[in-house]
Amino acid sequence: MKDTDGGAFLIGTADADSVFIAEEFNEEQKLFAQSAEDFIRQRVMPVTDKIEAKDYDLHLKLFRELGKLDLLKGDIPEIYGGLNLDKISTALINEKLAGNGSFATTVADQTGIGSLPILYFGTEEQKKKYLPKLASGEHIGAYALTETESGSDAMSLKTTAKLSDDGKHWILNGGAKQFITNAAFFDVMTVYARTENGISAFIVEKDAPGMSIGQEEHKMGIRGSSTCSIFFDDCRIPKENLLGEKDKGHLIAFNILNIGRYKLGVASLGAAKYIIEEAIKYAKERVQFGQPIANFGMIKEKLADMAIGIWSLEGMAYRNAGLLENALHPLDPESPDFSKNALKQIAGYAVECSITKVYGSEILWGIADETVQIFGGYGFVEDYPAERFLRDSRINRIFEGTNEINRLLIPAMIMKKAMKGELPLIEEAAKISNEIISIMPRALLKEGDLAAERLAVDMSRKIVLAVLGLVVKKYGEKLKDEEELLGRLADVVIALYTAETAVIRAQKLAGSKKADLALILAQLSVAKLFSTIYQKAQEIAAVAAAGDMQKITVSAFRKLYRWYQLPDLISLKRKIADELIKQSKYCF
Ligand SMILES: Cc1cc2nc3c(=O)[nH]c(=O)nc-3n(C[C@H](O)[C@H](O)[C@H](O)COP(=O)(O)OP(=O)(O)OC[C@H]3O[C@@H](n4cnc5c(N)ncnc54)[C@H](O)[C@@H]3O)c2cc1C
Repeated sequence: MKDTDGGAFLIGTADADSVFIAEEFNEEQKLFAQSAEDFIRQRVMPVTDKIEAKDYDLHLKLFRELGKLDLLKGDIPEIYGGLNLDKISTALINEKLAGNGSFATTVADQTGIGSLPILYFGTEEQKKKYLPKLASGEHIGAYALTETESGSDAMSLKTTAKLSDDGKHWILNGGAKQFITNAAFFDVMTVYARTENGISAFIVEKDAPGMSIGQEEHKMGIRGSSTCSIFFDDCRIPKENLLGEKDKGHLIAFNILNIGRYKLGVASLGAAKYIIEEAIKYAKERVQFGQPIANFGMIKEKLADMAIGIWSLEGMAYRNAGLLENALHPLDPESPDFSKNALKQIAGYAVECSITKVYGSEILWGIADETVQIFGGYGFVEDYPAERFLRDSRINRIFEGTNEINRLLIPAMIMKKAMKGELPLIEEAAKISNEIISIMPRALLKEGDLAAERLAVDMSRKIVLAVLGLVVKKYGEKLKDEEELLGRLADVVIALYTAETAVIRAQKLAGSKKADLALILAQLSVAKLFSTIYQKAQEIAAVAAAGDMQKITVSAFRKLYRWYQLPDLISLKRKIADELIKQSKYCF
């Protein structure tokens, strides 16, 4: 297998050349990023209060402006009115547009789940009909999968679609489709409904007879975005609005959600960067005990922890952008095999997409929470932005598959790849279970920058493979019922991928202007992630192994971890915090 294949990071270290890093953006990519950031800072952030008060006229005016700047066109091929940008540019635009949670939700829905089903699964006619207006922002997209009684268990949906007697229309009945983003102002929506032998996807236009939109939900956060239920009562749509194959809509739903998850992780990165800026600004301005609170060690540590989270997430997000670019961009949208190939490629990176979603949404949540803390009592009142950041961040752990569901999916998808022979996981795990008994990590430790971190990643990989082997041996098919274990497996996999990416990024930056701080950020990232892997692996071994096997495994894990000497976390974090305070923004 290639080191760029989905899940390959579990088996061996990637060649640094195959990992894209944020420091490799080209001039064109930076221009798109700047244009998106300027728009958000100059046009959207100053009118946050109006957006939050649901001024949809303003919201949509800004949305159309964004369209005129070509910032909704990235993923759409030129023949359908788009720009067919590389996936790194589209990720960067997505990141920079995340400065206002409500507006970002509308836009992300448009460029993600609202338009990608048609792009990847539409017929030529459907693409020609719908994509140009979605690309320009003239039309707004939406995606309706969730129902009142089917949330995480999305495939239990009850909305039905039947062909009319004359065979000319699909007739949709049911609802409510629940929590549909952009519901108040969408033009085109992908709707999932039950057909004879499965689930099918349909394109539904806003004036479809028999469709009605419910009231706006009163939400905790992203209050300026639209979220309503949608009902279908003998709703008639043309026969040709079936999207993809009949009864195969689940493939569309799941694969589009994979991309949506990855995009959500990138948007979380963007939001985190805007939020840390406010946290730094406030910490510099707020004086207590005769000095700015930014001078205090505990506040510095909070800022440094935020930056470590952002830096490690950024590494992962753009590594994935590079992987998706290589996988998806070369596909010819006019080829008859486009859908099939796109599906295969997207499915190949489903693990990485879920990892980015879970890690990104949790890093963002931690940052928003600590920002409230830095604002103190003012963090708790509406006159200051911190409480909105916290409210707006919360949803990311819920939509695009809750983090619980994604934590179940990560090991499940890895096992599926292993069973299909796409990942030599079982063979590697078997080898490792013997190797970890005799291996002496201390003897492998080399001199030099990142040597300990590189070894820590190697040892982490062995631990992760060993626990995967343990649980497969003990539970086999029944592993799916052991949710607490699956959650821990997901956590060690996420930590391994993040740590490996951090080390590779710092390694690639050696000798550059950014080298010193990247080295520190990689050291701090690995210190945290290696300890997570060790702790969770112990917890897994305590359940998945018994008797002598348990003793041997636990002591092997101890040996794989105990050689590692924590760096001076406090001094290193102070350096990161001082840089943040000097630059007044995330600057690594
Ligand atoms: C603001 C907002 C916008 C949204 N936009 C859209 C949209 O545009 N289109 C769309 O289709 N949907 C949308 N959703 C729906 C969203 O994707 C769902 O809310 C989400 O998938 C969870 O479903 P649920 O709310 O029914 O929770 P449930 O599925 O009822 O879950 C409740 C809790 O149980 C947990 N849980 C469920 N099953 C398991 C399990 N097997 N193991 C462990 N824990 C489990 C969940 O993780 C969660 O913590 C949106 C939701 C919100 C709030």
